[in-house]
Amino acid sequence: MLTHALHDTLHRIENAARAAGRPVPRLLAVGKTQPADAIAELAGQGQRAFGENYVQEAMLKHAALQPLGLEWHLIGHLQSNKAREAARTFDWIQTVDSERLARALDRHRPPEQAPLDALVQVNIDDEASKHGCRPDQVAALADAIVALPRLRLRGLMVIPTPHDDVEARRPAFRSARQLFDTLAARHREIDTLSMGMSDDLEVAIAEGATMVRVGTALFGARPHKG
Ligand SMILES: *Cc1c(COP(=O)(O)O)cnc(C)c1O
Repeated sequence: MLTHALHDTLHRIENAARAAGRPVPRLLAVGKTQPADAIAELAGQGQRAFGENYVQEAMLKHAALQPLGLEWHLIGHLQSNKAREAARTFDWIQTVDSERLARALDRHRPPEQAPLDALVQVNIDDEASKHGCRPDQVAALADAIVALPRLRLRGLMVIPTPHDDVEARRPAFRSARQLFDTLAARHREIDTLSMGMSDDLEVAIAEGATMVRVGTALFGARPHKG
């Protein structure tokens, strides 16, 4: 089952990149609410990078799947009081949206682990969301992250307003890419623009995503949380 879903998703990503004349983005498999077994199955098919939304849930899966040596990304909102656990569990934090949070992660990243890869989450157009920094705060936050020894700035992450019509999300993806290019002129080491999900990855790739975050298309619909 998951073999076909992974194959189909990789195919969609490649087609979208080819149609847009852009490099093929990385696939982040979003396993929130999915059991560790499902993640292990996908890992068995060659998928290495997994995204989780909740720190506690990720810690359990991380412990259960430790021998597989997977790459774990936090893509859910992170409160500073969970920074210690997050800094030990994850390889990437895609939701850094304040200097305070960045400092907490830097302080808690264990010295024996590699620096923590960080994306600045930008609230590109979603007025209903309190998460993500404003576009005009990106440059200062990026500078602050670069100055922290235990963090490594990799780029930006966005979650546009979830319009039913995926085409309506295109302007947000385009703004995100412009912001990314501006940031890349200042910090040449950045390489990641994380945007696009199961239903809109083609649009995100056309606008320049370098990483797409896919859950439903890989694992099927999520069970509702109680
Ligand atoms: C759940 C989630 C995804 C994956 O969404 P799907 O529609 O299931 O592909 C991607 N990014 C974030 C931040 C998420 O919370």
